Amino acid sequence: MEKRLIYVDNAATTPISKEVLDAMMPWLTEGYGNASSIYSKGREAGWALKNAREKIAAAFGASPSEIYFTSCGSESDNWAIKGAAAAMAKRGKKHIITSAFEHHAVLHSCEALEKQGFEVTYVPVHENGVVRVEDIEAAIRPDTGLVTIMYANNEIGTIQPIKEIGALCRERKIWFHTDAVQAVGHVPINVEEQNIDMLSLSGHKIHAQKGVGMLYIRRGISLPNLIDGGGQERGKRAGTENVAAIVGLAKAVEIATANIEERAAKTRILRDRLIDNILKIERTRLNGDREKRLPGNVNISIEGIEGESLLLSLDMYGICASSGSACTSGSLDPSHVLLAIGLKHEVAHGSLRISLSDENTEEDVDKILEVLPEIVSRLRSMSPLWEKIQKGDETGVPMMK
Ligand code: PLP
Repeated sequence: MEKRLIYVDNAATTPISKEVLDAMMPWLTEGYGNASSIYSKGREAGWALKNAREKIAAAFGASPSEIYFTSCGSESDNWAIKGAAAAMAKRGKKHIITSAFEHHAVLHSCEALEKQGFEVTYVPVHENGVVRVEDIEAAIRPDTGLVTIMYANNEIGTIQPIKEIGALCRERKIWFHTDAVQAVGHVPINVEEQNIDMLSLSGHKIHAQKGVGMLYIRRGISLPNLIDGGGQERGKRAGTENVAAIVGLAKAVEIATANIEERAAKTRILRDRLIDNILKIERTRLNGDREKRLPGNVNISIEGIEGESLLLSLDMYGICASSGSACTSGSLDPSHVLLAIGLKHEVAHGSLRISLSDENTEEDVDKILEVLPEIVSRLRSMSPLWEKIQKGDETGVPMMK
């Protein structure tokens, strides 16, 4: 069997791009100085850091002093949410608003805070996978100190009304954090224009390396230190900086935020071809709003098959896709995101997520569309669930709760 690798799991992670690697190399080799050292080898590393911070700040309309480097998106989310909770508690506020389909870095942070006595409202996301500003407004209480809503969902790619939520929070003097890990590079982001107080980003989703992230914290918001130690990151997150990873992150951000519209338009054509053609397979359903979605996200439930069997079959053709998110695959639980938009348990097990990048081509789409219908009919022919569905048994019908 011919096996050309078709990587369409870019929401799980992305390969490091050549430009990013080239930017990193000098700092992995001769540029090994400690950025805090006083001699020129150290100062050079310090300048590289300063330059990276300035580039990233400029890409999002922030100032360099509002950019904090972290080790990943999860760390940024944890710091923003737990840090904000500790700070707001000092002002007598103990209520947080989030949504039911956030990434686990957010949900589990909120759950940990609930155990400490904070109260959390999980607003619904509705059938189209979009949070409504009215629901957030209705959930606000006098003691609400933080709203945290993801910019774009990692499984179904739906884009949230960030600017409007930010405006509401600003008006009510509530801090607003957004997990933008999946959005960066796909939609234009400006923290000023969109009323964002804190924003999380992760390098490995935008062709930088794993293990580097960023938290934007608006000036005037003082979070407790994440790591006590030396004076790095203005004393807030100690630890000798990973200069190469940070320089790579800045390069990745620079590339990802340039020509967004042009790149997105190209990706959208591939996405829409995939969606339109996969939906021709009987008993399939697109998850998440068709319009308010990331340019590269396809998430389709296919009744009568298990997501895992589908992925293994695609892998035999060299196609790397996913079912649910990479962080929860391996778990037998249905996706909390698909349950949150109202899918039945049985259906939430059988979804296919394809997440495209700029590097995907028409040929990749052709191959997926060539093999997928065959795989689905083979898996369905062996599925007792499919047999029941065809007999009109209620088990898989309708898809929604
Ligand atoms: N937030 C979202 C929306 C994500 O998709 C992910 C990763 O999948 C994360 C946070 C966590 O990022 P990291 O893998 O850098 O910890």
